[in-house]
Amino acid sequence: MKPVPPGAGRSYFIADLHLTDERPAATGRFFRFLDEIVAGADALYILGDLFETWIGDDHDEQVAHDTARRLKALTESGTPVYFMHGNRDFMLAARYATQSGMTLLADPQVVDLYATPTLLMHGDTLCTDDHRYQAFRQRVRRPWVLAALRLLPFGMRQRLARQARAGSESAKAGKSADIMDVNVQAVTQTMRAHRVLRLIHGHTHRPQQHPLMLDGQPATRWVTPDWYARWGYVVCDAQGCTLVVSPL
Ligand code: MN
Repeated sequence: MKPVPPGAGRSYFIADLHLTDERPAATGRFFRFLDEIVAGADALYILGDLFETWIGDDHDEQVAHDTARRLKALTESGTPVYFMHGNRDFMLAARYATQSGMTLLADPQVVDLYATPTLLMHGDTLCTDDHRYQAFRQRVRRPWVLAALRLLPFGMRQRLARQARAGSESAKAGKSADIMDVNVQAVTQTMRAHRVLRLIHGHTHRPQQHPLMLDGQPATRWVTPDWYARWGYVVCDAQGCTLVVSPL
């Protein structure tokens, strides 16, 4: 009898791994997660910020090449991998998606998860109290801006990414914790607009299962953890979802 792979009958959701050559432990953890937990799964959904930065599909970190190889092997073994952009890796495009066998998803995206319509988002668009970030996001995510950025030489894109990172770090230092979390009204409005009772997102680095009432019906918002000091995921099957987070 063939052994049943660990992920059979389940779908996995991760976000905010922030992979970079500077933190090899997280990369190792991610590859073990693929081998020991996800193998044989129905699907793996990456809900953004897989990479710490992404300046274009000519991104030259070793972790980018290794990740493409691992994800390609996973998809070839029969587990589809879906990728949604985060605020760090929104420049990831079709070339890298093809190399790694990933299917790009729009943000937001509703998927049918074992007969439960489930809304998937990175989560940054729910942080509507952070007006400065939302204005920045709107500027850089315009199709013509993205197209123009892609035409810039590698070195210039590298410098721009460093500047954007530094700007975001100093802005974050001046923002309250509340401003950087999701706005509860934005959550209910978005779930209502998409007619779902389940939302899974990342971005805030606040892993949690949030029960809520939506027009008299029980609903749930699942938040995936970051992979900085800890790691973890949301896993769903026909019975429901579970949040799994390693100790810090
Ligand atoms: Mn993010």
